[in-house]
Amino acid sequence: MSQPFSYSPLVPFLRRHSSLFIRGLIFAFGYVLVTVSLPHLVGKVSLYLGQGDLDGVVRWLSWTALLFLIRSLFQYGENISMMAASLAVALDLRRHVYGYIQQLGLDFFDQAQTGDLTYRLTEEVDRIGEVVDKLARQFISCTLQLIAIPMYMFYLNGVLTLASLILAPLMAWLIAQFGQRLFLLSRRSQKQVSHLASLLTEVLGNMRLVQAFAAQSYEIDRFSQEAEQHRQAKYRAQRLVAIQYPVVGFLEVLSIMFLFLLGGWQISVGQMTPQAFVSYLAAVGLLIHPIDLVTNHYNEFKQVEASVERVFELMNIQPSIQESPHAQPLPDIQGRVEYRAVDFAYHPEQPVFQDLSIQIDPGDVIALVGPSGAGKTTLVNLLPRFYDPTAGQILIDGTDIRDVTLRSLRRQIGIVPQETTLISGTIAQNIAYGQPEIDLEAVQRAAEIANAHGFISQHPQGYQTMVGERGLLLSRGQRQRIAIARAVLYDPRILILDEATSALDSESEAVVQQALEQAMQGRTTLIIAHRLSTITQVDRILFLEGGQVSESGPHRELLQQNGRYAQFYAQQFNHALQTS
Ligand code: ADP
Repeated sequence: MSQPFSYSPLVPFLRRHSSLFIRGLIFAFGYVLVTVSLPHLVGKVSLYLGQGDLDGVVRWLSWTALLFLIRSLFQYGENISMMAASLAVALDLRRHVYGYIQQLGLDFFDQAQTGDLTYRLTEEVDRIGEVVDKLARQFISCTLQLIAIPMYMFYLNGVLTLASLILAPLMAWLIAQFGQRLFLLSRRSQKQVSHLASLLTEVLGNMRLVQAFAAQSYEIDRFSQEAEQHRQAKYRAQRLVAIQYPVVGFLEVLSIMFLFLLGGWQISVGQMTPQAFVSYLAAVGLLIHPIDLVTNHYNEFKQVEASVERVFELMNIQPSIQESPHAQPLPDIQGRVEYRAVDFAYHPEQPVFQDLSIQIDPGDVIALVGPSGAGKTTLVNLLPRFYDPTAGQILIDGTDIRDVTLRSLRRQIGIVPQETTLISGTIAQNIAYGQPEIDLEAVQRAAEIANAHGFISQHPQGYQTMVGERGLLLSRGQRQRIAIARAVLYDPRILILDEATSALDSESEAVVQQALEQAMQGRTTLIIAHRLSTITQVDRILFLEGGQVSESGPHRELLQQNGRYAQFYAQQFNHALQTS
């Protein structure tokens, strides 16, 4: 087949557990050796049966029983070793792929679909584990049997074996043909399941939107269509299997009929004893099971090949944000920030910044203002290296941020996003997110800065209070304060605030505002400003437009200039007056 062997990326994972596989293989050899000796015993039993010699029958039956027992022990040893090995491979693979995905840049996650990724990491890795297990457990011993048993058949009767194996290459060719089609169909069916999973994650995560727009029936239709396509894809694959079994099965029957014909003829002309023919038939009988299993497993093997391809596809994605091999930890900083002639674009044909230069002194509070889409969010996202500029440099305290480790850089930048994401766990775990050993004192200090200590201590369980998956227990203002505490936990010198766009009630707003002011103290702060109240107070406003800073200065100065900012401010101010 022209296509490259797509199981090869698994080899390093298999190799890591080779001792278990080898142990399993030794048991498999034992199992096959014993199996091959069975037809001889059956022949013997039939000989004594024919002679009416009961002692002989009992003696040979006992030997047979003993060998079966030994065979079962070998089988157990093989099963348990191979199963342990394949589970270890699946675990290894899962961890490895998950670890790899974690280091991909946000540009990957902007485009990736969560459901699809989840499906690949759970279901498809499981399928790979299962197929490795089956392959190791049964396929290997079956293949060994398919080699050893015909050898024994040759030894018994060469002519008969040659004649009855005439159909074997035809069968092998047929199975391979079916396998290739099955691989293609399975790939399509796996993709369909992934689509379904993506759709489900999207819709179930946004039920509020669906219900608010009474879009249930629209979503049901969309789901039904995807589900129908999945059914079709799966049906096509299964239909192929359904065709394959009778075709291969019929060929098997033909070979056996042919065998009886030849055997009968050989006995009639005295070239073979009936006892040898019984042994021979027993050997053929032993062949049927491994042939079926091999066909079966080969099908599955081809189906799961699609999963291997899809899992390892993820590992071929190059992380867009890479730590330089010479990266050093960023020493404790003062908080001087400089953007030097920065160009940036998400897509080459749509530049967001061209030759953007900004200098910010330590401790300065800067508000980024400008029409939506001007690049405010993008500008702050470049600082923790969520994305890298396409040209130019960003420096913190004079050091290019590409020369330092990502961890040390990000630890010194606190971020308060527009929407607070709470993870399920305690409040303390939420504030000290990502830190397995929580320093409660530091958590409390951060909560105090964020004006959150008060409401947290009012809960009977204080910092150990559990919050739900989306923190429904807490009000918006409280959630924002948790986010502020989280951002200042490591006492970063740089703070990024993405102001919440929708207003809180005025009381909560005052508390959150106060928390923010406390958090900003002594920290270089970049605010993505959406509301008017904050921007009048800041050290400097940067007005962004057309990929450039078009105006820069304190609020009053910019108003006096009566330029774009003054216009923008007047517009917003009038709007605010009208809506209040
Ligand atoms: P602002 O925060 O000022 O509203 P953004 O920084 O969000 O502006 O967006 C700047 C430009 O970049 C916009 O044209 C926006 O469509 C585009 N953009 C923002 N985020 C992405 C992204 N993840 N992928 C592609 N384009 C993006």
